[in-house]
Amino acid sequence: VRDAGTPDDETELAIEGALRPTSLAEFVGQQKVRGQLQLLLDAARIQQRSPDHILLSGPPGLGKTTLAMIVAHESGRPLRLSSGPAIQHAGDLAALLSSLTPGEVLFIDEIHRMARSAEEMLYLAMEDFRIDIMVGKGAGATSIPLDLSPFTLVGATTRAGLLPNPLRDRFGFTAHLEYYEPEELEQVVSRSAAMLDVGLPGTARSEIARRSRGTPRIANRLLRRVRDYLVVHGPSAGAEDGDADVRTVGAALDLYDVDAIGLDRLDRAVLDAVVRRFRGGPVGLSTLAVAVGEEPETIESVVEPYLVRIGFMGRTPRGRVATPEAYDHLGAPHPDGLLR
Ligand code: ADP
Repeated sequence: VRDAGTPDDETELAIEGALRPTSLAEFVGQQKVRGQLQLLLDAARIQQRSPDHILLSGPPGLGKTTLAMIVAHESGRPLRLSSGPAIQHAGDLAALLSSLTPGEVLFIDEIHRMARSAEEMLYLAMEDFRIDIMVGKGAGATSIPLDLSPFTLVGATTRAGLLPNPLRDRFGFTAHLEYYEPEELEQVVSRSAAMLDVGLPGTARSEIARRSRGTPRIANRLLRRVRDYLVVHGPSAGAEDGDADVRTVGAALDLYDVDAIGLDRLDRAVLDAVVRRFRGGPVGLSTLAVAVGEEPETIESVVEPYLVRIGFMGRTPRGRVATPEAYDHLGAPHPDGLLR
């Protein structure tokens, strides 16, 4: 699954890691979730127990992994990172759970993609810190109970609705992360620019923020592309030496196919398909996915939520529809009868 802006090489991953906030106080935005997590951590500390299991949902790049790291860091516990696709059998999960040290925080990214058999094992583990290991096959099979050290599970998923209810119900705390406001992204950009030593006047910061699709990971990535551009081309005429002004930002982001409101190539391909090919819709998810050559899951969990959020796309029982704003953005004439 393409993850909006997932870093694809090691240097980028290292830089992303270096830019991660390590405390709730440094974590920008998501004020409500931050307050709730703070309370959860404080209560656990006072009672000297592991914090409750936490489920974080929301599109990629909004800070789920970062929050899991913060939970471990702020509660002074070690962190183990895993992911749903890496847990293909109950045995994979048994090995993981039985190797946890007492109080460890276990982060499972894309938890909705874990094998079914492992899911069932996880129910018991979350509730009673115990698992049953099946030995043998058929009539001679027996199950051996195994006690686990207490742990805190932090699960992340692009949409909480993808999880079976019994699993979702076993999280003591669930939070949905929303796309960030431009002012919040500006804070992310300022913080990262200072850490990366990039000179960036306010107008350039807000330009990056505006084009970051509500997503801190994208804001950081665009900032790095702007820095590259500055290194190669130097500052625009009239800009302070070493500064990336708004023209530099514009030129760099145009080069990477990020449009004026932050839509990337896939966002525009999807919009274009709905508007031009399917005459504004409604069009079903799988038809749309085939038309743009992408996985339906990527369209549904990465592309669509943002297009819906900015009012370019609507979801109806019969499929996805484009709004007048989408036509305007693509410069396509409104068809007769388009609902206003
Ligand atoms: P997710 O797990 O939701 O895909 P991550 O936690 O990996 O997202 O975040 C991606 C990047 O965005 C990280 O490098 C982190 O530095 C940055 N980031 C995410 N949320 C915030 C935030 N609230 N404040 C500052 N930086 C953030």
